[in-house]
Amino acid sequence: MTGTVTRALVTGVTGQDGGYLAEHLVAGGATVHATVRPGARSRPLSRHLTALGDALVLHEVDLLDPGAVRALVADVAPDEVYNLAAESSVARSWADPVGTAQLNAVLPALLLDAASALGSTGGARGVRVLQASSAEVYAGTATVPQDESTPLLPTNPYGAAKAHAHHLVAVHRARGLHAVAAVLYPHESPRRPTAFVTRKITSTVAAIARGEAEELVLGNTAARRDWGWAPDVVVAMVAALRHDEPQDYVVATGVAHSVEDFVRAAAERAGVADWRERVRIDPAFFRPTDAAELVGDPTRARTALGWAPSRTFEEVVGAMVDADLEGR
Ligand code: GDP
Repeated sequence: MTGTVTRALVTGVTGQDGGYLAEHLVAGGATVHATVRPGARSRPLSRHLTALGDALVLHEVDLLDPGAVRALVADVAPDEVYNLAAESSVARSWADPVGTAQLNAVLPALLLDAASALGSTGGARGVRVLQASSAEVYAGTATVPQDESTPLLPTNPYGAAKAHAHHLVAVHRARGLHAVAAVLYPHESPRRPTAFVTRKITSTVAAIARGEAEELVLGNTAARRDWGWAPDVVVAMVAALRHDEPQDYVVATGVAHSVEDFVRAAAERAGVADWRERVRIDPAFFRPTDAAELVGDPTRARTALGWAPSRTFEEVVGAMVDADLEGR
C-alpha cells in the first residue's frame, strides 16, 4: 500500500454495480484496480468509467485461470477486494449452468484462496474481501423476511453457485481472513441491462410513451422482488467491508413489490394510462421455478453500518423511466 490511499481490486467493473462501486471508491479517494477480459482494454469504456481517469487501473485477466488470478492478487496487493464479476441473470443461469458455476462459484473460490495466501502482506490492515452474494441464496425458504441467519436454500443454478461462494466466505473467515458476504437483493438503475425485467419495463414503457412501441410482453407479473437502488447498494458494500468486525450483511429495502406494481408505477410516471391493455403475457418468459417472496431484513446493515436506502420504490422506478424517456 502506498501512503494512505486505499487500493481496491474490483472484478466486474463493466457491470452496473461495478461502475457505481468504482465511482464510489474513487470519490472516497481510493485507487481502483479492475479486471477486464483479455483483449478488452483496447475497447472503449463507458463514459462513467472513462471519467475516473488515472484512478482506475485496468488489468486484462482471464478470471477462470487460477494462476492468473493468484498473480493478479499478488501483483496488485490490494487492501480491499470486491468480487462482483458473475453471471448476473437467473434466467441465463438455466441456459448455462456450467459457465454460471465457473464464474459464480469457482472465481470466488480462487479469489478467497489468493487473498488468504496474500495474508497480511496485502496492506496496512491486511487484505479484506467482499463477495457479492445474492438474495437468490434464499429462494426456496419459507422464512419472510430473510436475514443473515436464514439458511441458504437456492432453487436455480445461479443461486446454487452464489451459495457455494457465500459458504466459502464463512469458511475463510473462520480461518482468519477478513471476508464478508453482502447478500444483495435486486437493485436497479438506468444502467441495468434490458434483460432484467425492471429495465425491460422502463425502456418499453418509455418507448410506448414516445409512440415507438405498442406492447410490453412479460412473463410472471405476480413475481415479487425487494427492489432497491444500485448506487445505495455499493455504499453498503464498502461500509460492510470497512466495518471492523467481518460479518455478512443483508442489503435490502425490506419492502417487496410485484412485477405488476413495477409496470403500474412506470406507466404512471411515463403517462401511459392504458397500460393494462398494453401488457401481453408470454409463457416463454416464465421461469422453471420462481422465488415467491424474496424480501430482506436490513436491520443489521442499518444498526451496524448506519445504512439505509436513499430512494423509495416509486423514486427508483421514476428515475429509471426518466432516464429512458430522455434516452440516457
Ligand atoms: P432476476 O430474477 O434477479 O434474474 O431478475 P429479472 O429482472 O430477470 O426477473 C425478476 C422477476 O421478474 C422474475 O421473477 C421473473 O420471473 C419476472 N419476470 C416477469 N416477466 C419477465 C420478463 O419478461 N423478463 C424477465 N427477465 N423477468 C420477468
